[in-house]
Amino acid sequence: MATLPGRKANIAALGLLLAVGLSAGAGSAAAADDRPGPQDRATSARAQVPRAESGEPAKSPAPWVAPTWGEISSGFGMRWGSMHEGVDIANEVGTPIRAASAGTVIDSGPASGYGLWVRIDHGRGRVTTYGHVDATRVHVGQKVESADPIATLGNRGQSTGPHLHFQIDVSGKAVDPVAFYGEPEALTDWPGHPSNS
Ligand SMILES: [Zn+2]
Repeated sequence: MATLPGRKANIAALGLLLAVGLSAGAGSAAAADDRPGPQDRATSARAQVPRAESGEPAKSPAPWVAPTWGEISSGFGMRWGSMHEGVDIANEVGTPIRAASAGTVIDSGPASGYGLWVRIDHGRGRVTTYGHVDATRVHVGQKVESADPIATLGNRGQSTGPHLHFQIDVSGKAVDPVAFYGEPEALTDWPGHPSNS
């Protein structure tokens, strides 16, 4: 008879557990009915992407790729008392450089400080700059697709070693390419890149 109070307590505890379980189940059922959830809102926002002025569906944006591969030797920001408006990617002279995205070449040739440069207008106020290049492979006015070869890496101009100065301007103001790409690896990740020549 000494076990009876204990058994009663166990039954009471079981009842309490059942009650907790039931109320938890009711709670999640209510949450499932609470629509639209965040995912539904994201889906409807995508469905409302405005169409181009021509009436055709808007094209998906051109992909952005690493302009070359190598080591990021200097980041965006203040450096030696002045603003470094891009990232430096170090590699051997002659390493291929490619268009970061589709666009139109607006500069290709000598440039103060950069020795030789290429600049590409990608539309919507976005311009990329490729500085200190050894040789350019494009001309002004040329249309390029994402990843088209545009130049080779060099050591021209005010440069302390072979590297690419890669800069992204948005509406005339330089932005951090790492933030633009989302992660530093994306700036140098060129799977299956051609070997240095
Ligand atoms: Zn630089």
